[in-house]
Amino acid sequence: MDLIKKLHEIVGIDRATTSPMQLYCYSSDSSQIRGTPECVVRPQNTGQVSQVLRFANEHDIPVTARGAGTGLAGGAVALEGGIVLDLSGMDRILDIDINNLQVAVEPGVIHSRLNEVLGTEGFFFPPDPGSSEMCTLGGLIANNGSGMRSVKYGTTRSYVLDLEIVMADGSVINTGSKTLKSSAGYDLTRLMVGSEGTLGIITKAVLKILPLPKARTVVLASFDNPVLAGEAVVKTLSAGVIPSACEILDRATVEVLNAYDPNIAIPDAGATILFELDGTVSSVKEQAKIVEAVCMPFASGIRIAAGGEEMKEIWSARRLVGAAISRIDPNKTRVYVGEDIGVPIKEVPRMLKFIQSISGEFGLPIITYGHIGDGNLHTGMCIDMLDNEQWKQLDLAADKIHRTAIMLGGTVSAEHGIGSARSKYMRLERGNALDVMILIKRALDPRGILNPGKLGL
Ligand SMILES: Cc1cc2nc3c(=O)[nH]c(=O)nc-3n(C[C@H](O)[C@H](O)[C@H](O)COP(=O)(O)OP(=O)(O)OC[C@H]3O[C@@H](n4cnc5c(N)ncnc54)[C@H](O)[C@@H]3O)c2cc1C
Repeated sequence: MDLIKKLHEIVGIDRATTSPMQLYCYSSDSSQIRGTPECVVRPQNTGQVSQVLRFANEHDIPVTARGAGTGLAGGAVALEGGIVLDLSGMDRILDIDINNLQVAVEPGVIHSRLNEVLGTEGFFFPPDPGSSEMCTLGGLIANNGSGMRSVKYGTTRSYVLDLEIVMADGSVINTGSKTLKSSAGYDLTRLMVGSEGTLGIITKAVLKILPLPKARTVVLASFDNPVLAGEAVVKTLSAGVIPSACEILDRATVEVLNAYDPNIAIPDAGATILFELDGTVSSVKEQAKIVEAVCMPFASGIRIAAGGEEMKEIWSARRLVGAAISRIDPNKTRVYVGEDIGVPIKEVPRMLKFIQSISGEFGLPIITYGHIGDGNLHTGMCIDMLDNEQWKQLDLAADKIHRTAIMLGGTVSAEHGIGSARSKYMRLERGNALDVMILIKRALDPRGILNPGKLGL
């Protein structure tokens, strides 16, 4: 069997390669996990994806789907060689159907592009990842990614109405319909969302959209330490205010941002919470008053952003955090491990205390930021990549962070996915539900060709 010859027949000579340089470029995502495929294929339509999968299935060749490779868990890395299927070229917005409050897209559409186009119609697709300008919608759906707005609007899962999926044997199914609700049988759409390319390849998605809110404001609240900030967030949410974003930046995060761009006007404090409120002009004012009143007993300072321009600056700064952390020490590199835990909201202050003590125990500064409003905390740890002892401490600290989140009733990944980086925690977190996942995997992909080595399956 001549693999590349067959792939050239299916997609054309320019769209399948075994060039070592190209394979190297596809051998990692945004994590430290590495794995080189035997070839890379860039299909242009569902028919080609279907033919590639039929052939791969017949010959037991692993197939790893890839969007933009911004994943932080090794999800798009071909751990067992085989084919990397790069879906980024299938990037058309197929239909904007305002009357039905939905859009149809191919998987390679970049997230921010969809919202730019929808914005001109007064609509938006609410999930809002920090990687918006890089990641594809296919990758976002496959990871059930989310971001800053999930505290009010939910995760990607809440917006997927229908998926066109190429199954492992090359057959093509639709998992849902164009209706906003359906009770017809098993919810295969939800099964596929978050399946990280292990059950099928997304070749088209129908997504629910919402009208843009009329008004927005940002309240910046400063606190002496992250634990007080966490307590203020718990009280604000239980006072009935659900912000459209609720982000924590600890002192180190603000310092890193200020060093990165001195124009950023986030106050220097033990921790800062950014509460974004949206709705009508009057409801936004009313919510801001409640946030101020509830936070006052905990806060060292509170102010409201001056206007649209300042809000834009604040959110662009917030988006920089993940990358800016690497500036903390030129001799160190940020390694994404233990970086995406989620805990029940009530447990946020306890988790923040644990993170402080884990940092002390392992002698590793841990920068904490993230979507505190839905209990999702990102931890940033930087090490000298050539120092084995630092790697050891990093792994131990990350392990403790993961286990603590599970112990508090939380998850090892709130939005970045399991991939291979966190697969060893699946049994601990999901118990015997993992056995059901394994049965589903065997039923839908009996030869195990789809993204092997992921999700602890
Ligand atoms: C700076 C930075 C900030 C980030 N911020 C956030 C954030 O706020 N929220 C968040 O959720 N994530 C965030 N991420 C993580 C990442 O961007 C998201 O998980 C994103 O959705 C991945 O999209 P991608 O196109 O890069 O997918 P990839 O990394 O290419 O793939 C991710 C997974 O999806 C699978 N996959 C990709 N396309 C398909 C397809 N068509 N069919 C089936 N499976 C497929 C892959 O096999 C893999 O398992 C961030 C990453 C970076 C680098």
